[in-house]
Amino acid sequence: MTRAGRFAYLAEPMRIELREHALPDVGPGGLLVRVRRANVCGSDLHIWRGRHPQLKRGVLGHEMLGEVAELGQGVTRDFAGTPLAPGDRVVATYFLCCRRCPPCARGDFNLCLNAYRYFAAPPEEHPHFHGAFATHYYVHPDQYVYRVPDEVPDRIAAGVNCALSQVIYALDRGRVVTGQTLLVQGAGGLGLYATAVARERGVRTIVLESVPARLELARLFGADVVIDLAEHDSLESRVAAVHDVTGGEGADVALEVTGVPAAFSEGPFLLRPGGRYVVVGNISPGQTAPFDPGSLVRRQVEILPVIRYQPWYLALALEFLRATRERYPYDELCEDGYGLDDVERAMRESSERMVTRATIVCAR
Ligand SMILES: [Zn+2]
Ligand SMILES: [Zn+2]
Repeated sequence: MTRAGRFAYLAEPMRIELREHALPDVGPGGLLVRVRRANVCGSDLHIWRGRHPQLKRGVLGHEMLGEVAELGQGVTRDFAGTPLAPGDRVVATYFLCCRRCPPCARGDFNLCLNAYRYFAAPPEEHPHFHGAFATHYYVHPDQYVYRVPDEVPDRIAAGVNCALSQVIYALDRGRVVTGQTLLVQGAGGLGLYATAVARERGVRTIVLESVPARLELARLFGADVVIDLAEHDSLESRVAAVHDVTGGEGADVALEVTGVPAAFSEGPFLLRPGGRYVVVGNISPGQTAPFDPGSLVRRQVEILPVIRYQPWYLALALEFLRATRERYPYDELCEDGYGLDDVERAMRESSERMVTRATIVCAR
């Protein structure tokens, strides 16, 4: 058995090198995972383009599925109590919950101050395998890890630890319930998952999107109404289109998963008075957009930004996939055809929105 692995290292913005490193020893409570699949997520692109405020280099990738290569001392079960053995397929939260910082002490594990302690860390730093675009990935004791149910294929499980867990948590924060209407801004991976989750809860969905292939996918993921932004090129026209299908009032809850600051300016106008606006996609500090606070106050629209998720949502997301895997074309969310040698091309093609979610197939 080889004791070295490889990873895609971002040496500087938009320049990726494939590097080799000896595999680390696995400490107590940790796990070494052999990566099977890793998806390119919006935040990887964000770091790759050099837009992240701190991270300019490091090992990329965090949305992934692997199999246990080695269990650290004391690790016999996952965080739901299911026994774990080498070879088992697992997913882990891509962030740490240290359970010792002030937010963790309050139970806000998604706000842990140490969440990104190893995220895209430099490969010189132990345990070296910090990212998922790699042959191996190191899971720390403070990362929640779950065994993947046998019925859930690799191809659809890879999106569970970022995109799907994120939207299930976001919809809970938005308190959207049966019989209400959810408006989804953007039908990328997160938007499509959100549409399926909402539909399963008996929530009516309206999806706003301009990319034709994504409009089509939104229908397949259960959208009740699809609004093509290309046909509505002004705010007034988009508000009118939403009012048309909501009895003239606007949606109960809206979810922003575009990452576009201008979408944030617009969201509150698409909601009914007293509606709730869940903001997930705009993760880049420093990008600004005009905003109309008066329109918010006068209509008492509530804004709910959401970052990461409570770690046990990963188990809920796995169960959601297991239960609904036959009902939605999850397969179509990710595009194969990339290996570890193709990470740069995967980033570029994702950046140009040629694919919804590029998947790096890492296992050799
Ligand atoms: Zn992500
Ligand atoms: Zn913490």
